[in-house]
Amino acid sequence: MSFNLTSLLRDNIKNLVPYSSARDEFKGDASVFLDANENSFGSPLPHDYNRYPDPLQHRVKEKLSKIKGVPAENIFLGNGSDEAIDILYRAFCTPKLDNVILVPPTYGMYEVSANINDVETRKVNLTKDFQLDLDGIAEALDVHTKIIFVCSPNNPTGNSINPIDIETLLLNFKGLVVVDEAYINYSKQKSFTHSLPEFPNLVILQTLSKAWGLAALRLGLAFASKEIIQVFNKIKPPYNINQATQDLVLEALENVDVVNEWIKTTVAEREELSNRLKAISQVEHITPSDANFILVKLAQAQELYGFLVNKGIIVRDRSKVTLCEGCLRITIGTKVENERLIEEIQQFYK
Ligand SMILES: *Cc1c(COP(=O)(O)O)cnc(C)c1O
Repeated sequence: MSFNLTSLLRDNIKNLVPYSSARDEFKGDASVFLDANENSFGSPLPHDYNRYPDPLQHRVKEKLSKIKGVPAENIFLGNGSDEAIDILYRAFCTPKLDNVILVPPTYGMYEVSANINDVETRKVNLTKDFQLDLDGIAEALDVHTKIIFVCSPNNPTGNSINPIDIETLLLNFKGLVVVDEAYINYSKQKSFTHSLPEFPNLVILQTLSKAWGLAALRLGLAFASKEIIQVFNKIKPPYNINQATQDLVLEALENVDVVNEWIKTTVAEREELSNRLKAISQVEHITPSDANFILVKLAQAQELYGFLVNKGIIVRDRSKVTLCEGCLRITIGTKVENERLIEEIQQFYK
């Protein structure tokens, strides 16, 4: 396959001269910094935040590099995965000309971000068992198709997408294949990060918002070739990851053991909750999940949703979503929370 990154880029990005910050222009050690119009007196806080943060987050990337087994030069950090998704559109998709392939039911931000950027989306539904329709995708794409978004494990269905099918896309499609692995920590499948050296058109998204328990800090990761990461860095706002986030993430990354414990507990609770739900006769189907949530097809989904809201329990009503008719998406909670949920569902069907 001939992959040519430059030819995929939008013309304005090819020709873009990026912003050069004070920290780009002087990187060495000094004792007096009078180049960035910062406040030299400090911050009205216990910690000083008066200096601009490292634009390329070197320390955080070094640490993530060790944990993920991916060189730092292949990592981009964004203000949530959502920033990486937006940058993909802005770098590669010319509004009103290019298009991307989406495979519903899937994560909603791919479409919202396309709409914000005025980029056409072509939808090829997943099959009945929530796998890729490779023939359908081949038919839908044309010379203006720049990106195919695949979410695995998929949100809202919870299942993993067959990795062989993803490889088929990677080998045959001349644009970018984005594999969103927001839920990879809960999956039996291994991450596509190990395949980066093989595929120049692969972009992997991960996040610290789910298994790492840091949704409020907003840290999304993209893994790709050095050349693609350079494109991301050229486009991103200079200081997109704030200092507080960088400091707290560095601290959090010391605690891999706690996170791994939570992952184990979540997976065990997922199986427990699934089994308990299956015992309820009004529960018609639960999609086998590789994530920290389950998609449950059950009788009177919308009415049950409203009933649970009144009891102070909020799940996600997906009953109007393509191929998810009659389904609720339920995040795995603590043992106590799951227990309460089961009790209320039993109460509803009584
Ligand atoms: C939750 C989620 C994300 C994470 O988004 P952040 O902006 O990093 O919080 C990304 N992709 C999918 C499919 C998700 O469900």
